[in-house]
Amino acid sequence: IFDECYIKSQIRAVPDFPKAGVIFRDIAPLFHSPKATRMVADSFIQRYVEADFSHIGAMDARGFIIGSIIAYELNKPLVLFRKKGKLPGDVITEPYATEYGTAHLEIHSDSLCEGDSVLIFDDLIATGGTLLAAAQLVRRLGASLYEAAAIIDLPELGGSQKLQDAGIPTYCLTAFA
Ligand code: 5GP
Repeated sequence: IFDECYIKSQIRAVPDFPKAGVIFRDIAPLFHSPKATRMVADSFIQRYVEADFSHIGAMDARGFIIGSIIAYELNKPLVLFRKKGKLPGDVITEPYATEYGTAHLEIHSDSLCEGDSVLIFDDLIATGGTLLAAAQLVRRLGASLYEAAAIIDLPELGGSQKLQDAGIPTYCLTAFA
């Protein structure tokens, strides 16, 4: 059974990281706890076990952790969305604004085809820039977006609302105001 209070207790608030005024929500303690990791994974698995999508997309780098657990459990192909310059093959690139500056997200051009439907994962939604860029990459390869999912939402930064306004169904297990 999903215990939101317990999950929140496993996420550490780090003030002034990576810069003054930002409270960083650190998920390292959550993954340090097998009980918390299993609770998070089981909750996503329960939501998506019967869902009709073809691929899981995972965001560099903390999204890789939860994305790969779910892809393994649901026996789905895993597509890695990486920061610029990490992928060796032909890529498509999408620029985006982050909470802290600008960045570029890439996927291999041959990782998705028309007709594919992708469930994308990250650890946390802040401004929504990362998952919006991922959604763009999915669409540029002719595939469709099934849902954007994360463990944590920071609703005050507006990202989950922005994703929903862009027509992307969005789901998070918990939120910090
Ligand atoms: P966004 O693109 O939604 O503005 O920011 C989300 C991305 O930045 C995610 O990839 C996430 O890993 C990272 N991020 C931003 N702020 C935090 C935070 O407070 N905690 C964690 N764990 N990741 C964050």
